[in-house]
Amino acid sequence: MAEHLMNTYSPLPVCFERGEGVYLYDTAGECYLDALSGIAVCGLGHAHPAVSKAICTQAGRLLHTSNLYRISHQETLATSLCQVAGMDRVFFSNSGAEANEAALKLARLYGHRKGIDAPQVIVTEGSFHGRTMATLTATGNRKIQAGFEPLVPGFLRAPYDDLDAIQTIADNSPGVVAILVEPITGEAGIRIPSEDYLPKLREICDRQGWLLMLDEIQTGMGRTGRWFACQHVDVRPDVMTLAKGLGNGVPIGACLAHGEAAEVFSPGKHGSTFGGNPLSTCAALAVIETMKKDQLVAAAERLGKRMRQGFEERLQGLAGVVAIRSAGLMLGIELDRPCVALMQQALDRKLLLNVTAERVVRLLPPLILANEQADEIVALTCGLIEDFLGNEQ
Ligand SMILES: *Cc1c(COP(=O)(O)O)cnc(C)c1O
Repeated sequence: MAEHLMNTYSPLPVCFERGEGVYLYDTAGECYLDALSGIAVCGLGHAHPAVSKAICTQAGRLLHTSNLYRISHQETLATSLCQVAGMDRVFFSNSGAEANEAALKLARLYGHRKGIDAPQVIVTEGSFHGRTMATLTATGNRKIQAGFEPLVPGFLRAPYDDLDAIQTIADNSPGVVAILVEPITGEAGIRIPSEDYLPKLREICDRQGWLLMLDEIQTGMGRTGRWFACQHVDVRPDVMTLAKGLGNGVPIGACLAHGEAAEVFSPGKHGSTFGGNPLSTCAALAVIETMKKDQLVAAAERLGKRMRQGFEERLQGLAGVVAIRSAGLMLGIELDRPCVALMQQALDRKLLLNVTAERVVRLLPPLILANEQADEIVALTCGLIEDFLGNEQ
């Protein structure tokens, strides 16, 4: 019974008890194919032996000491992340929203240093950046903001994938210090911007002295077939935020910075009791090590192509299917009508997927998929969509 839980979610009527790889088992022992990975979190699937072992060993040794003392796993993880991301320094948090909070605080501090008293950050329509006051303000979705006014000042909003709008702001708003953007939108329905969007944003930021801050909380950690989505277009941001796939289910977030941005914080300006503690950083280290050893970034690209081809073969041109969009194992199938009911219908067929932005079927399967499992997800999803569209007409 959930009567003592605050009423913030509407969970589907199933409770999972155990997981193994791509599969989840409910309390009745029924097996489900997981094409969602806890919303892009469990990239290595459930109960991955390397991650479980790392966590268990660490739990038997030391869980927490606070950031009043050095934490060796935290230092090692920072080095490892900077190496794959081409960044210089990391601040660790416990969630995505907190990673973005760190980025926003960094941007304001950077602005004040330059003598800008009321620094502004550009954010985009349809974006999702979290549920804290600053990050829900940054989020470009009125539903997430409604009822929480007054919102946080210091944000300017532009349409997504619209360079002219950014240029107009550049020409008119001297208080801007940074732009915060998702390289591919997650919650807004897997929107992939035009290929020159990030490179041109990089140019504008360089010209204006703004920080380019990329929210890679959903797209990062191999999800799109590169370690980070910005690497598809060879763009290095000044600030990059991570969370979801970083700990494979152990809560951890990270705010990475490069160059001048990496030198903005000084002791006392930001912090977290739990952030970067021995347990979460040890889990993330096991994740990175496994991703490298098993070449899971390349696997995400290969499997993503395979699944996309499968979807195109069966759904392309079908009445009711508007678009199929994907980058690696981040896949969206946009329908011409609301389809939230598909989540329950998928569950009835023992498949976990998600619907976002009302009518985009979203798949974020684990990167450890076998070809047959990828094919099974495609077959089940196509069957569901065909039946859904057929039944509606
Ligand atoms: C999930 C998500 C967040 C928020 O992360 P939390 O851990 O839920 O706070 C922020 N940005 C993006 C792009 C996300 O997908």
